Amino acid sequence: MAKKYYFDCCPEGEQYEAELDPGFAAEIASIPGGETLFNCIQCGTCSGMCPLSPEMDFTPRRIIAMIRGGFRSEVLNSYTSWLCASCYSCAVECPKKIKITDIMYATKRLAIREGVAPKRFPVSVLAREFFNSVESKGRSSEGRLIMRLYLKTNPFSALKLAGMGLRLWSQGRIGLGAESIEKKSELQTILRTLDKVEDEESKARKRIPVKEGL
Ligand code: SF4
Ligand code: SF4
Repeated sequence: MAKKYYFDCCPEGEQYEAELDPGFAAEIASIPGGETLFNCIQCGTCSGMCPLSPEMDFTPRRIIAMIRGGFRSEVLNSYTSWLCASCYSCAVECPKKIKITDIMYATKRLAIREGVAPKRFPVSVLAREFFNSVESKGRSSEGRLIMRLYLKTNPFSALKLAGMGLRLWSQGRIGLGAESIEKKSELQTILRTLDKVEDEESKARKRIPVKEGL
């Protein structure tokens, strides 16, 4: 029978061993500065300092504990990193100098990459649309970016803002066309190569055994 664990960091308070990802902590720890993850003493200073923690589904302290526990799916599906305002208060006050903000960025990147970023949450939609635009055109067209953001999150607001958008466009303040670089194929070759390298690095990271630093 599968072994069952009880963790205070688990959303339901319990989890089967088979549902955890033992390589997740090593994967996050391999980002620059990420290895400090294992020094966390769960003091909670980060959560106390974080101005957004009351709005988060998991506080920063809990996210660190969940990463170390292998709760990959819960961390990557969480809203926490999308609410993070990158204010660095947590990292500055952490007694173990853990780069919590960088860890938040790492989980965001992984969530986008694995297609599990919240589908209609404005921050994650904006990040995804920006990324898609730069990836396909080499540029981000602000007027289109704003339109896509509203259409994917709150189309009724898009209708209300249409008048203002048209005024800004008529005054030349925003463009509505798609801007693009000339040699898109070269950019896509570079991005495909980087994707391949990242895939190989990600597989290698999962093979590194986790070492707890406590
Ligand atoms: S402040 Fe640092 S050591 Fe304390 S819980 Fe947060 S990450 Fe861990
Ligand atoms: S950097 Fe993010 S997680 Fe850290 S205190 Fe600021 S908002 Fe909270």
